Amino acid sequence: MNEIECRIEVELRRELKKFSRWLSRLGFTPGTSGNLSVRLDADRLLLTPTGLSKGLIKAADMVIADMDGRLLAGTRRVTSEISMHIAVYRQRPDVNAVVHSHPPVATAYACSGRGLNEVLCQEAVMTVGTVPLASYATTGTAEVAASMLPFVSGHDAILLENHGLVSYGQTLLDAFMKMETVEHIAQVALIAHQLGSARPLGRDRIQQIQSAKAKYIHNIQEELLCSPWKDVGTLAPDRNVSEETLVSEMA
Ligand SMILES: [Zn+2]
Repeated sequence: MNEIECRIEVELRRELKKFSRWLSRLGFTPGTSGNLSVRLDADRLLLTPTGLSKGLIKAADMVIADMDGRLLAGTRRVTSEISMHIAVYRQRPDVNAVVHSHPPVATAYACSGRGLNEVLCQEAVMTVGTVPLASYATTGTAEVAASMLPFVSGHDAILLENHGLVSYGQTLLDAFMKMETVEHIAQVALIAHQLGSARPLGRDRIQQIQSAKAKYIHNIQEELLCSPWKDVGTLAPDRNVSEETLVSEMA
């Protein structure tokens, strides 16, 4: 490994730790659930190991696996859910990061046999679009990847029936933001339907928003694509995490 490859791996380990802890604080990875991965190169993935709290994980805990899910480096074990990640990477060469977690409201949709196929808020069109529901598969088996395959190419996030959510993108930040956005969209959908007068957007309005999206994409693309070399902490949503905490995590 040359010096540049070494520096990239170190930075990606820090990013995996940062976004693992962030997911944990959002309540998306109770216990030891959830896993995150990034491409190291064409043949290798760097990912969170099995059996560790995402709130306590360290950069040194990450493992390296090949595209068949075999451990190449690291002192911990590869997650049994790696086939979910590999299914995305194999079908989407544009994707460099995959996040899987169990955000409670989105997972409740998945446990009720519902996808997020209705477009209620403009933000959905601007970001992840609709989120389909992959049919039931036992976690940790090859069935999970098979159930996702019909949706991987046309979507950036997929609900897994009676399980959780997987999202992916060009960087870890991109995949993470899609994860938290889907949970937000699920919360809005749940409450709108509880209010009893949900008003989905029609085709014309969706097309108008898609036209506006081109400008939006241009504005954020620089931030999304420059990771891991740029400090992305300034994009932190103002939740329960202080900026000081995020900065200290990068240390
Ligand atoms: Zn899971």
